[in-house]
Amino acid sequence: MSAQISAVKCGSYDPDTVGRCVREALDLLGGIKLFVKPGSRVLVKPNLLMSTPPEQAITTHPQVVRSVIRLLKDIGCRVVLGDGPSVWGKYIENVDEVYEATGIKKVALEEGVELVNFDKRRMRDKFPLTVWLDECDCLVNLPKVKTHGLTLMTCAVKNLFGLVSGTYKTELHKNYFKPSEFVKVLVDIYQEAKPVLTIADGVLAMEGDGPGTSGRPRKLGLLFAGSDCTALDAVVAGVMGILPGKVLSINEAVRRGLGEGDLSRIEIKGEDVFNLGIAPFVLPQSSKAVQLPGVIETLAKSLVKYYPYSLPGKCVLCGHCVNICPEKCINLGKRGPVFDYRKCIACFCCQESCPSAAIGLKRSFLAKVIGL
Ligand code: SF4
Ligand code: SF4
Repeated sequence: MSAQISAVKCGSYDPDTVGRCVREALDLLGGIKLFVKPGSRVLVKPNLLMSTPPEQAITTHPQVVRSVIRLLKDIGCRVVLGDGPSVWGKYIENVDEVYEATGIKKVALEEGVELVNFDKRRMRDKFPLTVWLDECDCLVNLPKVKTHGLTLMTCAVKNLFGLVSGTYKTELHKNYFKPSEFVKVLVDIYQEAKPVLTIADGVLAMEGDGPGTSGRPRKLGLLFAGSDCTALDAVVAGVMGILPGKVLSINEAVRRGLGEGDLSRIEIKGEDVFNLGIAPFVLPQSSKAVQLPGVIETLAKSLVKYYPYSLPGKCVLCGHCVNICPEKCINLGKRGPVFDYRKCIACFCCQESCPSAAIGLKRSFLAKVIGL
């Protein structure tokens, strides 16, 4: 076996239950000190995609974050907590709103840890990543288990995209819009940030058109931990009913020698997750198109496409989709967004950022004909 991942059943977000389960997940791997040096300064990065309450399963639950902070404090660590949510405009005020809505601000206050935003950056490789990576001794990664319209699933590796400073994430979506190119960016960031430990919140996961409000919460009742993000993603993919080889970010990481993607070579400590009778997750509508092999991707992408469209009666005219669209191809009409499909690159950022699940996806004619 070349990698070890732990998986622990966790039936609810009751604080004591989560605390016990997080500790167990780490003890199965040898304890937190095996990964984090006592007394060090640690950047803790949950997934705080947007301003939604924890029960919507879009963000890492605050009790998971709290439990990890307590374990780090127990070994004398100083914790810095933060993420780079999908916000724009008044950046700092809007990040603060996300921290409030997701319950993270309360946790930071109650646990007495520093809550930071990722507006200041330093170029690492070719990306402007938060300076907090440099200011801290190590990174602890706390992703949420979810489906994802562009990358099929989001967990350990994808969560690191939030380390990109400020609104530069939109630029990356614009410049690397093909899934096969975008996952290279994700793996570049993984290579650069190298979290020492990842603990994934799969207690209430997400299926369907994730990772935002268009997805559906799905009870899974599991926490996962490990230091190999690729292996952790492979195990989570398997649990979701996805072959790890279908996840482009896993393939790219394996190709670069950054972790283990072969389930037969990953030792899973704790729960026998593949014999729990977990039904496969409902995948995003776009999942077949985004899994097209790279060779035919370029040709097919222009014909086999999923387009965003406005779902009647749901838009609250907030304008988030207009602001986040990397191609600036959305105008806000009286009843909702109007899309210029000639410019749309099918990045699905608009759907991901919509607070009202008001953006659906429709297939192009050819996608329907060939059954994608
Ligand atoms: S309209 Fe939506 S899917 Fe198309 S480029 Fe803009 S954000 Fe991306
Ligand atoms: S579609 Fe969603 S994000 Fe866009 S304006 Fe309407 S509610 Fe806001």
